[in-house]
Amino acid sequence: MSVKQQYERIQANIHEACSTANRNSDQVNVIAVTKYVSEATTRLALESGVEHIGENRAETGLEKKKAIGDAGTWHFIGSLQSRKVKQVIHEFDYFHSLDRLSLAREFQKQSQDKQKVKCFVQVNVSGEESKSGLQPEEVLPFIERLEAYPAIEVVGLMTMAPFTEDPEQTRPVFRGLRELRDAIAELHLPYAPCTELSMGMSNDYIVAVEEGATFIRIGTALVGNETTSSS
Ligand SMILES: *Cc1c(COP(=O)(O)O)cnc(C)c1O
Repeated sequence: MSVKQQYERIQANIHEACSTANRNSDQVNVIAVTKYVSEATTRLALESGVEHIGENRAETGLEKKKAIGDAGTWHFIGSLQSRKVKQVIHEFDYFHSLDRLSLAREFQKQSQDKQKVKCFVQVNVSGEESKSGLQPEEVLPFIERLEAYPAIEVVGLMTMAPFTEDPEQTRPVFRGLRELRDAIAELHLPYAPCTELSMGMSNDYIVAVEEGATFIRIGTALVGNETTSSS
């Protein structure tokens, strides 16, 4: 299937999940995760109508963005070393993995007169040791401390669910993130509107949409994986 056909199939699944959950599908943004594919395939995604592109490495992400130019909205979805902030801060529109104050401090330092650095706070909802992100109980105290870094705007929360054969098993993880998001949004902190939920990948995005995802991050199921020989 072409990227365009995959995108149409994903959109049909999103519509169905939204009608199941009684949501408006306009609230769901698809991020094409292009970390495993070429610049040409990234362009194909944009030409197929995808607006959002996600990259998880500073160097390769910047190279692609430079080649492609101004098209699309760019998301940095990987863990970010503080020393690389300077390279990426003005090139990406959203950062999905804010998980420590030292990173917030570096964003603040490098932000200059840029209005706002739009961040998701990454949460390790499942408690898996291999996953990065804050523990759920750490999230609110962390966000409260971000008031000291006025360049940062907490647009929402992000999580990576454990991989399971049965995506239904990830539902409690997504639901947990939504409940945490709701609790923070209710505080109406001016620097943390926290309205967005970045959750769901190729194997579990349908469940994530049913549970309220507003940004789903899809690599393999949308643009494929050109680094392996399997289809
Ligand atoms: C790679 C990656 C994805 C996409 O993974 P797929 O399973 O290929 O859809 C989503 N989010 C993050 C943070 C990633 O690193």
